[in-house]
Amino acid sequence: MEGTPVTVESVREVGPGTVALELETPDGFDAAPGQFVLLRAVPWDVADEEVDDDDVVMRHYTLSSPAVDETFELTVGIDPDGDLSPWLADLEGGEIVHIEGPFGTITYERDTDVVAAAGGPGVGPAVAIAEAAHESGHGAVVIYQDDEPAHRDRLETLEEAGANVVLLESDDDDGLADAIETHLEDGQLYAFGFESFVTTVADAIEDAGGDPDEALIENFG
Ligand SMILES: Cc1cc2nc3c(=O)[nH]c(=O)nc-3n(C[C@H](O)[C@H](O)[C@H](O)COP(=O)(O)OP(=O)(O)OC[C@H]3O[C@@H](n4cnc5c(N)ncnc54)[C@H](O)[C@@H]3O)c2cc1C
Repeated sequence: MEGTPVTVESVREVGPGTVALELETPDGFDAAPGQFVLLRAVPWDVADEEVDDDDVVMRHYTLSSPAVDETFELTVGIDPDGDLSPWLADLEGGEIVHIEGPFGTITYERDTDVVAAAGGPGVGPAVAIAEAAHESGHGAVVIYQDDEPAHRDRLETLEEAGANVVLLESDDDDGLADAIETHLEDGQLYAFGFESFVTTVADAIEDAGGDPDEALIENFG
């Protein structure tokens, strides 16, 4: 299988329908918050059979740890009808997956205040960037739209450290637009999430008089 084999160190639930995978860091691998990897695996039992290319499923996942040490973290929203995410959520640790990367030009270099908007599993990189901002003495706002929020403990810790955390229901696009308008000038704007979420964020930036092209937007597809 293409990519570098890495051990899944642990998998833990971090919210309803959401898991965090801690992966062993391969030699020479480094990544900035905002970047993503291509993860390959064979998500069904072919133990005694020859694995061919048709069995391999590959998906992109964005780092959700503020830094890469011995391990790094990915946050995966479970799509019950999906090919890979339910399989990843069922792992126990000790399994091998293959990764390639890091990829992506959207990075946080610990050099400015941030406003991180997240929809669904986009909360992973949003929290990571907010944590990296705090660690480097910068301000952070997290705007997070999800009916069943994940990473609540990390969001609470961020709030206690002075970050501004805005939690919104999934259908509250007016609230999302208000929050974007309120915090437009508070730092470099990032957005992470699936197509409809990042489109709503881009529209909200434009409606508020900002330039969506200046926002760093990662579309999960
Ligand atoms: C740059 C980037 C970064 C990303 N980062 C993250 C991240 O950090 N966290 C995260 O959770 N996700 C992230 N994603 C999304 C992730 O790569 C997967 O798309 C997601 O986990 C779903 O994969 P899956 O195999 O479980 O579902 P899939 O098998 O891809 O299916 C997804 C949905 O589509 C439906 N579907 C599949 N095929 C068809 C079809 N032919 N017709 C109709 N419906 C169909 C399925 O029923 C299911 O509901 C990212 C994506 C990109 C591009």
